[in-house]
Amino acid sequence: MTARIFLSPPHLGDDELALVTEAFRTNWIAPVGPHVDAFEREIAAYVDTPHAVALSSGTAALHMALVALGIGEGDAVWVSTLTFAASAFPIRYVGATPVFVDSARDTWNMDPALLAEALDDAAMRETLPRAVVVVHLYGQCADMDPIVEACARHGVLLIEDAAEALGAKYKGRAAGTFGDVGFYSFNGNKIITTSGGGMLVTRHDDVATRVRYLATQAREPVSHYEHAHIGYNYRLSNVLAGIGRGQLRVLEQRVASRRAVFARYVDGLRDLPGLSFMPEATFDSDESRANRWLTVITLDRHDFGSDPETVRLALEALNIESRPVWKPMHQQPVFRRGDSIGGSIADDLFAHGLCLPSGSSLTTADQDRVIAAVRAACRPPLTASHRTEQGELSAV
Ligand SMILES: *Cc1c(COP(=O)(O)O)cnc(C)c1O
Repeated sequence: MTARIFLSPPHLGDDELALVTEAFRTNWIAPVGPHVDAFEREIAAYVDTPHAVALSSGTAALHMALVALGIGEGDAVWVSTLTFAASAFPIRYVGATPVFVDSARDTWNMDPALLAEALDDAAMRETLPRAVVVVHLYGQCADMDPIVEACARHGVLLIEDAAEALGAKYKGRAAGTFGDVGFYSFNGNKIITTSGGGMLVTRHDDVATRVRYLATQAREPVSHYEHAHIGYNYRLSNVLAGIGRGQLRVLEQRVASRRAVFARYVDGLRDLPGLSFMPEATFDSDESRANRWLTVITLDRHDFGSDPETVRLALEALNIESRPVWKPMHQQPVFRRGDSIGGSIADDLFAHGLCLPSGSSLTTADQDRVIAAVRAACRPPLTASHRTEQGELSAV
């Protein structure tokens, strides 16, 4: 059996082990320490934002964002429907109600026109949400200018789920730095990883201070254990922050590799009928860049001749991992009683999309295996020219 090709495996650089060893040597085996402080400074500098707070996961970061912004019982939070469930779960942790917003075709992310229209409408009815959570899916930025503008116009807080989008840029600025709070994930499958971890970023001094306080069990600054608020144990360990620092040093290489993987898929597959690639929106700026965390294709089952699930199973039979596009939140059983604003575009992307192996360590030989497998799964219906050829053959 040939070796398994994974969707997005961890890819470590040369420095991570040395940095982890340093944590051991200096006995900083704790959820505080010099690597945590340095990792925060380095991420803040990389994305050019005043504050970064290292946390145990992206999910914890979103949870802390909501708590620190005072969102809770009785509040509505609007969130992209086409995403991973962790974009929505923390809304329920704080007792708020998620409302799911459909995607735009050009980014696959929250549709800014739909959002603006729905916010105007909600303002008239006095049912405005407290916050919007916009997701930058698969490392492609949402169209932030009109989203920022619509939220500001209505006094609605803006949170960016940039879990998949570290290294992506919108008009020269890092994904995650446009709203009140943004966050990144360092889960094992993300563009860089600490095995598990997250980072909250914000330009608000008081939000950063509050998240640090809440995430370390809400301890009051006195010698005994004094608590005036409910706290959480959500800080990143110093050992894992060491891994993160090493990973951050190779982030630009990882983005370049993932983009190169995408470009090779385009070269190897673009002639197939009924196959398209997730678009890269540039927003009329040569300083916009998707990180191409995953290469995602869509298949028209009539022209391509197979549906995404058939292709996924064909790849699996060859020991190649691929995955459907995220199933929209408004279709999830756990949220079935929830409200949504549109949803047909997300439904369509879910029905037709497939994520291909896209790791930054994917070799060209392995990628050729994937390309050959996708090509073999393409069974276009007989066209007029095929029929003529066959007719000629049978006539011979
Ligand atoms: C991975 C991910 C998260 C959650 O991050 P964790 O670090 O795994 O908790 C949230 N949102 C999106 C879109 C993600 O892909």
